[in-house]
Order: sequence, then structure tokens, then C-alpha cells
Amino acid sequence: MKAKKTAAQRQAAREADARRYARDRKKRIAAEKAYKEKKKGDPTYEAKVKARAKVNNAIRDGKISKPNACPNCGRTMTRVEGHHTGKTGAGKMVWRCSRCNPRGAAA
Ligand SMILES: [Zn+2]
Repeated sequence: MKAKKTAAQRQAAREADARRYARDRKKRIAAEKAYKEKKKGDPTYEAKVKARAKVNNAIRDGKISKPNACPNCGRTMTRVEGHHTGKTGAGKMVWRCSRCNPRGAAA
């Protein structure tokens, strides 16, 4: 059985995680920039970006609200994501938790 970590050990681990996160920040930003550059001009990618912005703006403006539970399985302790049906993200949007909304799966 693994020995339980002390509060000091947990604190040290959190601090190490924070240092690693800060250290890799530039790398993450560069990778994101390279990805966006690579996807520039891809109509599927641009449609998805627009669809996400539309949903996020509607949530911000109070036009739609994000449910706390997944309407598909009812799970609450999870992140609920908007899933757009259709290949280009132009279809209907449904709320799904990350387990019900596997990446790349057709709905
Ligand atoms: Zn679900």
C-alpha cells in the first residue's frame, strides 16, 4: 500500500506543478499559434471556430444557458460541452458531457 502524503508533500507537489506549468507556457502558446497557422484557410476549421464563437457569445448574452447535467446521461460532476452535429459544425447544437461526446464521433 502506498503511504499517504503529508500536507507539506502535497503542497510541494502543487508548487512543482505550478512551476512546470509556468515553464511550459511559452511552448504551449507557440504550439497553439503553429496549429492555428496550419489550419488557416481550412473551411472546416473556420466553420468550427465560428460555431464555437456563436455558442459562447449566446451564453455570454444570456440567450442560451449551459446545463449543469448532461442531458444524455444525467451526469453532473463533469464538463458539459456543446456538440455540433454535421460535418462542418453547421448543424444543430446539443449539450453532451465529455464521455457522451467522444471526439470525432458522429452524432
Ligand atoms: Zn453524458
